[in-house]
Amino acid sequence: MNTIGITGGISSGKSTISNTLKEWGFTVIDADVQARVVAQPNQEAYQEIVKSFGSEILLPDGHINRSMLGEIIFNNKEKRDLLNSIVHPAVRKNMLSEKEKAYKRGEDTVFMDIPLLYESKLTHYVEKVIVVYVDPSVQLKRLMERNQLTEEDALSRIKAQLPLEDKKKWADAVIDNNGTIDETKQQLKKILEEWNIL
Ligand code: ADP
Repeated sequence: MNTIGITGGISSGKSTISNTLKEWGFTVIDADVQARVVAQPNQEAYQEIVKSFGSEILLPDGHINRSMLGEIIFNNKEKRDLLNSIVHPAVRKNMLSEKEKAYKRGEDTVFMDIPLLYESKLTHYVEKVIVVYVDPSVQLKRLMERNQLTEEDALSRIKAQLPLEDKKKWADAVIDNNGTIDETKQQLKKILEEWNIL
């Protein structure tokens, strides 16, 4: 049984890789999706978030206003740590349970898409790490286009993460996503073949 981490930087191409893996029939457990799941009204973490941040972070329908919460924590380390201390354990629990389910279905390899794998020191959850890399200028351009951001806003999001250059050094394999999506898929295929996964 193999657990492989997919990581990189914001807008470096992790979702593109994850979608390809899903097309090829693999289970990809997405940390961001799980973070949204645990903040749903019927979840334990939701109750704790509301207790800690107050009902003013709720939308009229009772769901958490994610963009408001995002703004609160973006420039406030204490609040960010508080939110993480609620959300992270719940996300980890869900991810491990999804992994167990996949193994029980008889799958040999499971992928985990964890954007902040290194920042959150989660490398012990995976046996190997694939870093999806792009040059800074490409990352900036794709982020501005995808999220409709100004250069300044895009740069501040990029700078909130560890440099991609560092992540590249720590990786077991690197996918260079500066080229076409087809070239990226070819690199992924080659890595999985070398690791006897494909
Ligand atoms: P991440 O999940 O790492 O944030 P995405 O996979 O969403 O990144 O990619 C960021 C943006 O760049 C998306 O709009 C995506 O469609 C685009 N993109 C990703 N890879 C390529 C590529 N090789 N060529 C052109 N556009 C790409």
